[in-house]
This record gives sequence, C-alpha cells and structure tokens, in this order.
Amino acid sequence: MIKGKFPLEQFKAVETPFYYYDLSLLKLTLEKVKSLAGGFGYDVHYAVKANANKHLLELIAKEGLGADCVSGGEVGAAVEAGFSPDKIVFAGVGKADWEIKLGLEHHIFGFNVESIPELEVINQLAAERGVTASVALRINPNVDAHTHHYITTGLNENKFGFNMEDMDKVIRLLPALKNVKLIGIHFHIGSQITDMVPFQNLCVRVNEIQEFFESKGIRLEHINVGGGLGINYEHPNHVPVADFESYFKVFNNHLQLKPHQKLHFELGRAIVAPCGSLITKTLYVKEGATKQFVIVDAGMTDLIRPALYQAYHHIENISSEGPLKTYDVVGPICESSDTFGTERTLNETKRGDYIALRSAGAYGEIMASRYNLRQLPGVYYSE
Ligand SMILES: *Cc1c(COP(=O)(O)O)cnc(C)c1O
Repeated sequence: MIKGKFPLEQFKAVETPFYYYDLSLLKLTLEKVKSLAGGFGYDVHYAVKANANKHLLELIAKEGLGADCVSGGEVGAAVEAGFSPDKIVFAGVGKADWEIKLGLEHHIFGFNVESIPELEVINQLAAERGVTASVALRINPNVDAHTHHYITTGLNENKFGFNMEDMDKVIRLLPALKNVKLIGIHFHIGSQITDMVPFQNLCVRVNEIQEFFESKGIRLEHINVGGGLGINYEHPNHVPVADFESYFKVFNNHLQLKPHQKLHFELGRAIVAPCGSLITKTLYVKEGATKQFVIVDAGMTDLIRPALYQAYHHIENISSEGPLKTYDVVGPICESSDTFGTERTLNETKRGDYIALRSAGAYGEIMASRYNLRQLPGVYYSE
C-alpha cells in the first residue's frame, strides 16, 4: 500500500498534481533485471521513451543497462545521462537525417532499420562521414501480442519493420551498401504483454527467420527481441515487480541462439512503470444523477494513458480511512475521455483528499502536455 509508505506530511505544502518516484523500488527492479539477465548472458537496453526523466535515466545508466532510443532527442538524452554509446540502439520508422547523423557522431552500437530507403540514407550519411554504420534489420514477425490494438506492433498490417517477403531484395542490395554493416535482426511485437505465449510465438518465428538467414549464408551476431513485458496494473502493492524471470526463461527455453550470438532486450514499461505514482488532490466530490464523481486536479494532460487506450491504473485515496465507497475518478479537462477510473472503490473521499494513481512511471510524465495551457506536473523522488 502506498498509503503509509508515502510521506504525505512532507508534501502538504507542495502543489499538486505531481509525479512521485519510489527510487528504492526502481533500484530493486534494476537489481532483479541485472541479476537475471546477467545469469542468462543477455543484454538489456532501457527503452527511453517510457520515461526520459533525467534523474531516472542517470540511475538506470549507472546500473549499467544500455539504452533503446527512438529519436535524436533520446539519443542525446541517453548520452548525456551517462549511457555508454556502444550500448545505445536507435529504432524508429522515420529517422530524420540529423538524427541519423547524431547516432553516427556518437558511434552508437547500432541502428534498427525499418525500410530500404532508410538503409540507403544511412549508407549515404555514413559514407559522407567516412564511417560504417552497424545496422539490425527490424523484421515484422507477424505475431499477435494480444494487447490493446494501439500498442500492437508486430502484425503485417502495422507500419513497423520489414516483412519477410522483402528480405531477398534487402539481401541483394546489402553488398552495394559499403558503409552499412549488417550485425543482426530486431523485433518488437507490442507493449503491456503479460501472457508469455506471444513471446513464445515470437521465439518460434525468430528460429524460422534465423534458418532463412543461415540458408543465405548470412551470419548474424545479434538478435534483438525488443520489449513489451507488461506489469500488473491491478495489484501494484502485491506484485510490484514485473515477472522478468518467466520472461527471460521463455527466451532461454524457446529461442535457439547460435553459440556466437548475443540476445538483446529493450524493456521500458516493466522497468519504470511500478515506481511512479501521480499524486493529485480532490477538488470536488460531485453528486451525479446515478453516481458520485471525484474530481481531481490531475487530468489527461498529466497522465494520458486512460484516455488514450483505456488503460487501467489502480487508484487509492491516501489521506482517508473512511468507509469504502464507489466513485468515478475524473479530471478537469473538457473531454469525456478525461476519466481515470469508473466505479472505483475508495475510502470515503472529500475535498482536499490526496489521491494516488499508481503504476504511472511509464508513459506518464513523458507524455504530459500543456493542453488547456495547464502547468506540467511537478516531480519528486523518495530520496
Ligand atoms: C516502445 C518500444 C520498446 C519498449 O516497449 P515497452 O513495452 O515499454 O517495454 C522497445 N522497443 C521498441 C522498438 C519500442 O518501440
């Protein structure tokens, strides 16, 4: 329970809403990831897009993880936070020239490339600098992640990656691209995946795809299976750390790595989601025709996930011990989607009560906007 753990008294004078990061939970999570991945010999890159908060980035970099970036801004932030450039991978379906140049300038580990025109541009820009760019081909494995369709990325209908039908053409083209070196293949099937079956299906596909490259006489040093491991949003107090063990075991049991190959992961949500809470204050408790609304001072501008893809966040009243009641918890923005939760059970709530929206460490602060000319939320840490 964050209630009791959260030092509410210290924050009574602080303006709400704000993000609060439990750094001890983040450290515990990183320890777990490091020891498990280390045991299997896997490389984990933190997906910066989940949360690019400088303090968190520095902490994650210090623990020795790599970084997975999807923009030039993220490559810059990762370098600045202390991630070693030789552990930075750069993905994205639409990399601009300046972003590619930035990656080349920092000699990053590699580019995850998603199309033939992108390969040609990287080759050209690398030639202009007189360097060789290491690339992994992002391949669309056509595996259904069984997650929300906005965060499914590995189906043929998605815009991401090469389809296997394009591979012969790519392989014929590669020898002409003198400033590009193929080092591996890359996949990413979606996000918030808690069922291990889609990952198992991914392994089976990767094995098939490996055979294809083998049959063409191509040796791949690196296999990157992306991220997507989900967390338990319903029970943040009972299950505060993602199930990294089952996740890595799936790959250990089902992916056939060659002896010379390194397996890479790009985990975002599973690393940072649990450690963050959005703390907000109750402005009004409003009697509706059929229900009671708790109107809080945080809105979809502070945490957009519920509005964007009906995401669930556990909600607690951390300043009341009153009897349990049922409320809809909503924000102040003029959009009906500005709702954090319907029919939620909270301790009896009154104006001024503090409400915690849990597991908001990923795709929370980083997606905050100033829509309605609202202030960006504040940020505080447990240490
Ligand atoms: C978003 C993304 C990730 C991280 O996804 P999570 O669900 O946060 O683990 C990893 N790789 C790529 C290419 C991504 O786009």
